[in-house]
Amino acid sequence: MPRIELLVIQPTPFCNIDCRYCYLPERNSKAVVAPETLVNLFSQVFASGWVQDCLSVVWHAGEPMVLPVAFYRDAFQIVERAKPSGLTVTHSFQTNGTLVDDAWCDFFAEQRVNVGVSIDGPKHLHDRNRLTRSGRGTFDKTIRGIRLLRRREIPFHVISVLTIASMAAPHELFEFYVEEGIERVCFNVEESEGDHVSNSFADRDVETAYYRFLSEFWRLSAAMPGKIPFIREIEHALQQVIRPKDAPFNNQLVEPFAITSMDWAGNISTFSPELLGLKNPRYRDFLLGNINRDVLVDMPQRANFMDMLEDIEAGVAMCRERCQYFSVCGGGEPVNKLAENGTFVSTETTYCRLTKMRATDLVLDALERVQPSPAGPSGPSLPFEMPVRVQDQPTR
Ligand code: SF4
Repeated sequence: MPRIELLVIQPTPFCNIDCRYCYLPERNSKAVVAPETLVNLFSQVFASGWVQDCLSVVWHAGEPMVLPVAFYRDAFQIVERAKPSGLTVTHSFQTNGTLVDDAWCDFFAEQRVNVGVSIDGPKHLHDRNRLTRSGRGTFDKTIRGIRLLRRREIPFHVISVLTIASMAAPHELFEFYVEEGIERVCFNVEESEGDHVSNSFADRDVETAYYRFLSEFWRLSAAMPGKIPFIREIEHALQQVIRPKDAPFNNQLVEPFAITSMDWAGNISTFSPELLGLKNPRYRDFLLGNINRDVLVDMPQRANFMDMLEDIEAGVAMCRERCQYFSVCGGGEPVNKLAENGTFVSTETTYCRLTKMRATDLVLDALERVQPSPAGPSGPSLPFEMPVRVQDQPTR
């Protein structure tokens, strides 16, 4: 039986800005999900038996905050009414932060919403890619939103998209986060997705640049304890490297329905959330049905689901057979295999070389320095205390 862990909902495809690397094909559409669609979604999800003790709901894929707070008050009530007792639902927003105001802060605090703000570092880096439709930078509005979140003591993290230019500036990014009191950072590399072809991936030195960036950023953070206590890429790599040998690897991206995505019109997809809006000659699209017309629990029997699953599983099997990083990766991200290799039935991508291989190398290199002999001390606290020197080259 599938197990839904994460529900990604597109409340609207519209975005109030127009980033250069955006892959969302319908970001000019002002369509909005109907309340009935949310009722159908949550009643089917909870009746399916596919959710266990908790469900994480992310409002994303378009700018969620272009809709009013009142929309989400109604939407959260729909969820509460449909939810079986004893089940925990957490809500998260991924936002560009330009529309944060006091009313939003009240709502976030009251509903304990997890907030992620996309900001690409200081103004001159952020404004290269995060633009309005008229081509103006959005940094000033985003940083105003972040400062308000801080003033109102709303917990948040940031996601910064790294380009070749920002990978060359770990000190500048670190100082920027510290100055702005940003304590939880996540890095996404500018990747090829949908129609967007990554300029950064085309750079032949991107792997070295990424390794050096992460290494130096981690060293800076270790040298100033408490300033940036959470760096997602390091935390994840540590969790995967330092875990019991027989612990099951959970790659939600290749588990059917572990991540279930719905667009504003009620169309359902699974695996990588980005697949929801994409088209492809082999699969046409990645839609498994519509929650307003179809039955969720019947979707695993659909022919296009079977085709996707077969190919994704074949790609994972190839990874398991060929890749020495499989135990910390679990077979990668289907959407990146499709974008970079043209098929799910494949292994390496630039994306996985960066985010899985080089990040793992970094943690392994640090562990080797603190734990030179097999009889040495061990435990998950070790690498946090160990500043990492900048490496000229990835070593594996
Ligand atoms: S790192 Fe890449 S090649 Fe290795 S298992 Fe992950 S996706 Fe497959």
